[in-house]
Amino acid sequence: MALDTAWAIDWVRRTAATIDDHRAELVTLDREIGDGDHGENLDRGFRAVVEAVDAGSFDTPGAVFTTVATKLISTVGGAAGPLFGTAYLKAAQAAGDATELDADALVAVLTAARDGVVSRGKAEVGDKTMVDAWSAAVDAAATAAAAGEGPERVLEAAADAAVTGAESTDPLVARKGRASYLGDRAVGHRDPGAQSTAYILRAAVDAA
Ligand code: ADP
Ligand code: MG
Repeated sequence: MALDTAWAIDWVRRTAATIDDHRAELVTLDREIGDGDHGENLDRGFRAVVEAVDAGSFDTPGAVFTTVATKLISTVGGAAGPLFGTAYLKAAQAAGDATELDADALVAVLTAARDGVVSRGKAEVGDKTMVDAWSAAVDAAATAAAAGEGPERVLEAAADAAVTGAESTDPLVARKGRASYLGDRAVGHRDPGAQSTAYILRAAVDAA
């Protein structure tokens, strides 16, 4: 499928489904190095997003992303709501009024999302946050696009790299977010926001 409005809507639905499937796992990850609410937060947020998407009508992927942003910011508390909300808001701005994303547009969207998270949360790669998954995804997407891959393959490269990026948080000490209060005790645990980022990007591939 082309990365068009129907894809963006299907991405939203598949994201809600995968977050629901992995809610308990995300709660457990966040209980280990945070306060245990990450799975519930995102599940509530993406349910609200699906309701809003069901109730609306959309002409572009960017319009879908704007609705995702608005709903996440208003329904997901904590760190993740504003961070993911900013990611989708910046993604929407990068998508503009295009009706379909080609490989370069997709790289621009993912880059804008990552940069939005970074500007909001001030985390760098290696701080054991969702930035580790987002940045790995952006780098892989840019490499795939530069090699001439089409948008579906670029997206798949991004999602695969996000998994590796999430795994890369396991041995790290956290320097941002609640996990940073734990010092060495965070070592050996995966960052929940990096893991949920990997699930969100996988849902985008499954929709394509
Ligand atoms: P809270 O920490 O407020 O309970 P969540 O549990 O929903 O919020 O989300 C925690 C996730 O948010 C972390 O796993 C991490 O990926 C991400 N996070 C927290 N602080 C930052 C930050 N400053 N920059 C980027 N990501 C962050
Ligand atoms: Mg939490």
